[in-house]
Amino acid sequence: MSSMRAAQVGAAGGPFEIVKQELPEPGPGQVRVLVEACGICHTDAVLVDGYLPGAAFPLVPGHEVAGRVDAVGAGVDGWPVGTRVGVGWFGGCCQRCPSCRAGDFINCAQLQVPGLAYPGGFADAMLVPANALAAIPDGLSAVDAAPLMCAGATTFNALRASGVQPGELVAVQGLGGVGHMGVQYAARMGFETVAIARGTAKEQAARDLGARHYIDSTAEDVAARLRELGGARVVLATGTESPAISACVDGLAPRGHLVVIGASAQPLSINPLQLIFGSHTVVGHASGTARQSEQTLAFSAQAGIRPVVETASLEDVESAFARMRSGEARFRMVLTTGN
Ligand SMILES: [Zn+2]
Ligand SMILES: [Zn+2]
Repeated sequence: MSSMRAAQVGAAGGPFEIVKQELPEPGPGQVRVLVEACGICHTDAVLVDGYLPGAAFPLVPGHEVAGRVDAVGAGVDGWPVGTRVGVGWFGGCCQRCPSCRAGDFINCAQLQVPGLAYPGGFADAMLVPANALAAIPDGLSAVDAAPLMCAGATTFNALRASGVQPGELVAVQGLGGVGHMGVQYAARMGFETVAIARGTAKEQAARDLGARHYIDSTAEDVAARLRELGGARVVLATGTESPAISACVDGLAPRGHLVVIGASAQPLSINPLQLIFGSHTVVGHASGTARQSEQTLAFSAQAGIRPVVETASLEDVESAFARMRSGEARFRMVLTTGN
């Protein structure tokens, strides 16, 4: 293969076009990843619509990548050709800024995000810094591994970082591509798991994924229901409707945390009294490093956790993207290349 396909967006909000490109050669510190599958994340829509700072068009989105190492640049050790690898939101870091020097790589001042810093995974191949790679364990297919690199890593690592203990009540707000992973991790990690979503259409799916309780936010007072259950140690907010997230705060247990991971620019409305009484905290969580993504993949393989996906070929990116935007996908759209 000397040429490759890429699904490119020419201008903000614009349609995708499939373009033919030369297969790029990896520079020092880089590998070329032959993409087998790439998930479509809600944040890809924020990128395509031009709302992420630094977005320069034309661009190729895609930060839920699974494939294999296809060529290795100078100075790269440990990632031989043929290694099965994933790439997520964490697409490389500078290793020089204060955050990197403190070991906090996800908060690198020059964090590289695939699709933003360099062409992403809606393509046959991409160049990636070797420090952004996560090894995919045997037993996870590329289609299953791809959504774990953002939707999976974000939820698993947000729950791990929250300090919640087995047996405690965890509510997952929103049941889309991200939330359906959050429910699975919360249940398998031993938390008493509540799924919160609009309507009842997803209730059975939520229970099948491991939710012990289900709250229909259109019919019930979410905070009152959570308090009846004893109060949530953690509410993992995966939705993008800020009023629905704000409505969970009064359902937190004392010293409970609202952990926000759904990407939205819409303000939350929380008054100081809601934080003071009960010593509640609101915290954001961003994805995970390459190592944390690798741990996500390993835990998922070990615990039998898989995303529920709909697949589409790279050529059908436009309709697949529209299906993600509509919220109708059950639950993650994944593009496949046939590689
Ligand atoms: Zn994402
Ligand atoms: Zn840095």
